[in-house]
Amino acid sequence: MFNIEAIRKDFPVLDLQVYGKPLVYLDNAATTQRPNQVSALIADLYQSGSGNIHRGAHFLADRCTMLFEQTRDTVKEFINAESREEIIFTKGTTESINLVAFSFGERFINPGDEIILSEMEHHSNIVPWQLMCNRKGAVLKKLPFDENGVLEIDLLESLITEKTKIISVAHVSNVLGTVNPVKEIIRIAHRHQVKVLVDGAQAIQHLPVDVQDLDCDFYAFSGHKIYGPTGVGVLYGKKILLDEIPPYQGGGEMIDSVSFNGTTFNVLPYKFEAGTPNIIGVIGLGEAIRYVSSLGLENIGEHEHQLLGYLTQELKKFGGIKIYGEAPNKASVVAFRHEKVHPYDMGMLLDKLGVAVRTGRHCTDPLHERFGIDGTVRASLAVYNNIEDIDLFIKAMNRVVSMF
Ligand code: PLP
Repeated sequence: MFNIEAIRKDFPVLDLQVYGKPLVYLDNAATTQRPNQVSALIADLYQSGSGNIHRGAHFLADRCTMLFEQTRDTVKEFINAESREEIIFTKGTTESINLVAFSFGERFINPGDEIILSEMEHHSNIVPWQLMCNRKGAVLKKLPFDENGVLEIDLLESLITEKTKIISVAHVSNVLGTVNPVKEIIRIAHRHQVKVLVDGAQAIQHLPVDVQDLDCDFYAFSGHKIYGPTGVGVLYGKKILLDEIPPYQGGGEMIDSVSFNGTTFNVLPYKFEAGTPNIIGVIGLGEAIRYVSSLGLENIGEHEHQLLGYLTQELKKFGGIKIYGEAPNKASVVAFRHEKVHPYDMGMLLDKLGVAVRTGRHCTDPLHERFGIDGTVRASLAVYNNIEDIDLFIKAMNRVVSMF
């Protein structure tokens, strides 16, 4: 049913030699590689010609408009949104969150209001809210996590007051791998009329997402983390909210009519898509989603889970390793430190042995501060990784440690 060797053939980069060693790519939480299906479609569109969307009355423009709008339907189906108007194309998770922080903030946040974030958030889900708080005189509050990287969900209700307007939380932590109980968070928040944005940057490629079942108000993700192109992402928002909040950027396409006396705005979703978007990137994202759907997210999750178990077991056997993030419900990300080798040295030397991992703080300074550490090594798995990748990684770790 799930032929990993066939899948690996879809990703020619996996045959790359770096410094004379076979590439072992374990930096998937930073960005995933693209299958042939995606790169071939993108190359074909660039080679066979493209037109600007929605505004041209000629063949190339019509073809691109059709493919672009078909992708909106693909995304709608993929996350089970109620309507295609709820799917906004952005340049990534970061832009999606900035859009909500700005537009929701403009409409709903007043001085003294409160926003709750978790302590494990990526900077992309902290800084946009801080900018908004500075503008509006609002306050950020944080929901902590425990030693294992599990959110202290019992504290949530005590953090919510009548001033709380929105909670913004990662579905999956990009460092700890924790799969957060977002459905429960949303249920609690809605009991208090508080809205919830879910940062799905690290979830969308690992587990099925159903925005109607979650009942989230906003959901954000990036194309490049789900085997798609860079520079493209999605914001899902409930129609009733998207209708109420003001545009984020002004420009072509997001307007209905413009005069020097004023402007009226276009309907959803175009109200939030100012200017020429990443047309071919969006179409490429559609192909990536079709690719993932053809494999099945349940199958992907099961495969990655088995690898995660093996990787965790091998790291524990290795000795001298502390893993950060041991939640019972984890996606395929492992952050760790070795007692003798600093993460930067580990990452640099692993690279010379062909192994790509990420080192540093992974855009999560508050999380690392919580543990009192200056960084970690992060190995993150994707659908095309296999047991051999993990064995090569552990072998390379042995080489590195023996140098110290
Ligand atoms: N949120 C999380 C949890 C992430 O891991 C990342 C990227 O690593 C982002 C947000 C930002 O994503 P992007 O840089 O694609 O906008």
